Amino acid sequence: MAPSTHPLIDNGITRGDPNFAGGTLHCHCPSDQVVIALKSNIAHNHACGCSKCWKPRGALFSIVGVIPRDNLSVQANASKLAIVDSSAVIQRHACRDCGVHLFGRIEKDHPFRGLDFVHAELSDQKGWQEPQFAGFVSSIIEQGFNPKGMDEIRAKFKSVGLESYDALSPPLMDLIATFTAQKSGVKFANL
Ligand SMILES: [Zn+2]
Ligand SMILES: [Zn+2]
Repeated sequence: MAPSTHPLIDNGITRGDPNFAGGTLHCHCPSDQVVIALKSNIAHNHACGCSKCWKPRGALFSIVGVIPRDNLSVQANASKLAIVDSSAVIQRHACRDCGVHLFGRIEKDHPFRGLDFVHAELSDQKGWQEPQFAGFVSSIIEQGFNPKGMDEIRAKFKSVGLESYDALSPPLMDLIATFTAQKSGVKFANL
């Protein structure tokens, strides 16, 4: 049996609704759930193979998207949230009881500062943007996935129409490089 990339990828992708106006996310606790309200849809949603993003049990990849931080608020049980690793660039706020990550936030100077990272699968609503690509694909090897299985993983993403990258997608990598260039005072030549 093929390994599970993520339940939202394994059985084919369901398209989101471009007019979807947001909704709520909740943790996995049976009661007293942490609830997060999102005032818009997410963007740059993708499968992530890094070791730090929250993923459901049995999945090799996380599915994570971004939303402007002003569009995110904690609606219930904020006291259950704790930062998983305060030294990480993305401070992932997780539920202390069930371990689910409700949102990740960047506080330091960074190209993605101002965007929060969220997992739309924690929502009961439909319409969230579907995954657009797979990032940090080779990173699953560092977590114990046999490198011999990588062709199958990349073929799986391709079969549902997603490109695989070993960092982020080209537009996001360009954004990071632009930020770095501008910080060091680079002036771009006209095309
Ligand atoms: Zn919880
Ligand atoms: Zn990740």
